[in-house]
Amino acid sequence: MYQPPGVKTSSDLPVSDLMKAWVLGDPDQLHLSEKPTPVPSRAEVLVRIDAVAICATDLEIIHAGSPASIQGGLPFNKNFTPGHEYMGTVAALGPDVDEFRIGERVSVEIHAGCGQCKRCRQGMYTSCLNYGKPDKGHRANGFTTDGGFAEYAVNHINTLARVPDTMSDAEATLVVTAGTSMYGLTEFGGIGGRRERRGDWPRADRTSRSSCGQGARRKPGHPDRHAQQAAGDRRGIGGPIASSTSTMKTPLRS
Ligand SMILES: [Zn+2]
Ligand SMILES: [Zn+2]
Repeated sequence: MYQPPGVKTSSDLPVSDLMKAWVLGDPDQLHLSEKPTPVPSRAEVLVRIDAVAICATDLEIIHAGSPASIQGGLPFNKNFTPGHEYMGTVAALGPDVDEFRIGERVSVEIHAGCGQCKRCRQGMYTSCLNYGKPDKGHRANGFTTDGGFAEYAVNHINTLARVPDTMSDAEATLVVTAGTSMYGLTEFGGIGGRRERRGDWPRADRTSRSSCGQGARRKPGHPDRHAQQAAGDRRGIGGPIASSTSTMKTPLRS
């Protein structure tokens, strides 16, 4: 029975010590395997994955490896589990987590910055200077850490958005993707909006057309507003898009 020290679980949502997970072997080779169920640390929760979308970037990773990177190299034959567009139910709480309750439905954003580097302190956590270093606290699930093609995944509490009962599991998998487009449109000034800031157009246009995984491809200095959008909206999926936009302005102009 899954009961790591310091981790809160519930008999209402029992978790097993081992979980099923799809693992990337050679290029284009995914196989179903068994792994230890991951353990949430401080400010993290265990999410039971209820639905996962398959993104074009997932297919790219399975075929060519990049933009995923494990231990500084391609992710093949490293017991790596892809998948970054997923949602689920909070199944266990890391030590002292009281921001979420077991049983809550959540959708996830993949990036969690280290929280201590200069870029994280500026709010540009998708360009974290410790990108790809899980020991430093950075996560990009499905890119540098295990993702959602599994029964469970660990997520930082800052990457979770509560899902209302009116939203289906399948719909909730696409919250970050939808947020990306919404953010791009907001930067445009809305559909049919004016070009008020000509200098921002090339960036805004790129964002509106981008797919997931841009954060993993971009080097420091090119923030992934795709993921930041969702982060700004993590108070709840029904929260206002516009409020998250205001939090993005600093990285946009850096
Ligand atoms: Zn950082
Ligand atoms: Zn994606």
